[in-house]
Amino acid sequence: MPLYEYTCEDCQKEFTLLQSASVNKEETTCEFCGSTKVAHKFSTFASKVQGSPSSRSSKPVTEKDYPNKDVFKLPIPRLRSEL
Ligand SMILES: [Zn+2]
Repeated sequence: MPLYEYTCEDCQKEFTLLQSASVNKEETTCEFCGSTKVAHKFSTFASKVQGSPSSRSSKPVTEKDYPNKDVFKLPIPRLRSEL
């Protein structure tokens, strides 16, 4: 059985469900808040078979991908010889 990843549009949490292909994904509910507004992301089962990276890793890394945005405000470290 494949794994399905969902993102809840109400509470923005992500969760993974083990579901058979016959399950109606329209009726999947968020396991955190019970909302039915869940967005199906992709099947990890299928992505393994295809051997392709998820959309997460195929797009270029941007500032938004870094959890700590303060790293961009820090001065660039210099070598001691440059001081
Ligand atoms: Zn939710």
